[in-house]
Amino acid sequence: MHPFTAVFLTLLGIVVAAQLWLARRQLIHVGARRQQVPREFEGEVPLTAHQKAADYTIARTRLGQVENVYGALLLLLWTVGGGLNVLDGFWRAAVTNDLFAGTLFLLSIALVNGLLDLPFNVYRTFVLERRFGFNRTTPGLFVLDLVKQTALAVAIGAPLILAALWLMRSSGGLWWVYVWLLWTGFSLFMVWAYPTLIAPLFNRFKPLDRESLRARLHALLERTGFRSEGIYVVDSSRRTSHGNAYFTGFGRAKRVVFFDSLLEQLAENEVEAVVAHELGHYRLHHIMKRMAMIVAMSLMALAVLGWLAGQPWFYHALGVNHPSNSAALALFVMVGPIFTFFLTPLVARRSRRHEHEADDFAAEQSDARALIGALIKLYKENASTLTPDPLHSAFYDSHPPAAVRIGALQKRHAH
Ligand SMILES: [Zn+2]
Repeated sequence: MHPFTAVFLTLLGIVVAAQLWLARRQLIHVGARRQQVPREFEGEVPLTAHQKAADYTIARTRLGQVENVYGALLLLLWTVGGGLNVLDGFWRAAVTNDLFAGTLFLLSIALVNGLLDLPFNVYRTFVLERRFGFNRTTPGLFVLDLVKQTALAVAIGAPLILAALWLMRSSGGLWWVYVWLLWTGFSLFMVWAYPTLIAPLFNRFKPLDRESLRARLHALLERTGFRSEGIYVVDSSRRTSHGNAYFTGFGRAKRVVFFDSLLEQLAENEVEAVVAHELGHYRLHHIMKRMAMIVAMSLMALAVLGWLAGQPWFYHALGVNHPSNSAALALFVMVGPIFTFFLTPLVARRSRRHEHEADDFAAEQSDARALIGALIKLYKENASTLTPDPLHSAFYDSHPPAAVRIGALQKRHAH
């Protein structure tokens, strides 16, 4: 066995073991606290809602465990099992132009992976989400979404892959710098294009039109110096009764988007506090910082790929007989996450710090009590657990646990 094969197999084993262990901790922690609403939330969250959140969290965590194992098995089949090698050989024989063969190879991997994920997708939507009363998607809409997503992925992915493979072949030893420029340009384009062109293919976005609320939010936008039309309501309730709000886009396309189901649940001062939180992310440059981090990390990743792509052992150790640029990309995208898995808590911690900062901003510009009220409703409506395992949460969660987040708001602002 090649030494790198041994490194890969060992690390994959460690990653799956860590995933299953963290999930098991979560199952035990949440299960043990199912019978009692945490003291901080007594009177705010009824026992039935708390138990639903526990059951929902447990069901999703168990499904996640199955997916962890399934994902690892698929990765083994693709790599050392020879899956990539077979597919690569097929396209190599079928198409003489190697740029087209490479593009078709990469697109077909994505397609096969999408099909292999489909059972989980269907189970999650029509069994798990339905059991807890969240699913609103019909089979017809589900299929239509799949068709649209696939068409979109091909329409955007094919030219992007073709351009990347062409740069890898034609721009010399520093091709990875050019591919990085291409990737960065594409990412910036998508930040603009997603809210304006792509999301409207799936949902209807309407400017928020409740009169009294609009005046209130307009005043908030003025005093936080936010120049944009921007508060939209999306008809998310066509697919799910989960609620959320998020910030997206840049320049004139930047906007705060509310799920319609959330908007119905919140009082006006709570809506204002949530918008203030989202504006906080923008004003405190969290969006820019995150993009800068992604751009810097993709340069590092591509520099590593620039080196790996020239090493024959990289291919042979991972089950590909014929080194090529497209095989290098495929292996890198598939195997890379195993090598970066243990960076997850660093990224999550940074994100949680930003959440605290945006909460503070909202407390200053709006009202801490209203934000707390909105957060409790969000947790209740989404059946998010109030009692996550601390280690599981520290490893994965982009948002601080409810008790920590609300505790911080109370301590600093709601005297
Ligand atoms: Zn946030």
